Amino acid sequence: MSPMSADALADLLADARAGVAFTGAGISTESGIPDFRSPDGLWTREDPRDFSFRRYVASPALREQAWRRRHALWQDPPRPNLGHFALADLEAEGHLAGIVTQNVDGLHADAGSRTVVELHGSTRRVTCIGTAPRAGTPQGCGFTASHAWAFARLDAGEADPRCPSCGGIVKTTTVSFGQNLWPGVLEEASALVERADVVLVIGSSLSVEPAASLPRRAHRAGVPLAIVNAEPTPLDDLAEVRVRARAGGVLADVAAALPARREASA
Ligand SMILES: [Zn+2]
Repeated sequence: MSPMSADALADLLADARAGVAFTGAGISTESGIPDFRSPDGLWTREDPRDFSFRRYVASPALREQAWRRRHALWQDPPRPNLGHFALADLEAEGHLAGIVTQNVDGLHADAGSRTVVELHGSTRRVTCIGTAPRAGTPQGCGFTASHAWAFARLDAGEADPRCPSCGGIVKTTTVSFGQNLWPGVLEEASALVERADVVLVIGSSLSVEPAASLPRRAHRAGVPLAIVNAEPTPLDDLAEVRVRARAGGVLADVAAALPARREASA
């Protein structure tokens, strides 16, 4: 059997009892969410510096713009696609222990996945980062809420909603450029990967550190690696199974093929 097929991937996952899926932007493009790095990605239309933590803290105008844009975007919320649903199925059927994602869209949880580590935070949660946080580290009072809270403040006429407890700046929990990862998140992801019997990389170019080091470390520990991505990745040569395709169709095929394999091995 070709190591390049969805069949080979189904074989690998059929035996998995603690697989970990590592997902990137490529799994959400089919939900209409732009990929930052692809040729027609967000960077061609936005200034990356606008997304830096330092500028968010420094510029009320930029914060107002960010809230306006986000509010408009979520008027018509993105929905999970076949790839997200297939991963939720794989977890429900006991093949996956969880998902480590670079995405901030919350679509894995929407699809029904239960164990999801969001390495780069979420655009669906907001939190107080304090009045003058420095050096990429939020220094909030602990206030946190759904982004719906912020949208309600905008609807009530506040352009740059402030923390109701301490008056601090409010930001989504998305990790911006120049912002440190949230404490404990990398440890949580590492713990999942350390117990993994398969690591399945989906829709990630594996170009962002430290996130990309997780699959590399799993491979070094002898855990089989599978990669589903439309483009080549730096770890392709290490992968037992590679499928050069968009995620949705491949994962749906794999999830559909697994019940028959379970029956055959029962
Ligand atoms: Zn606060």
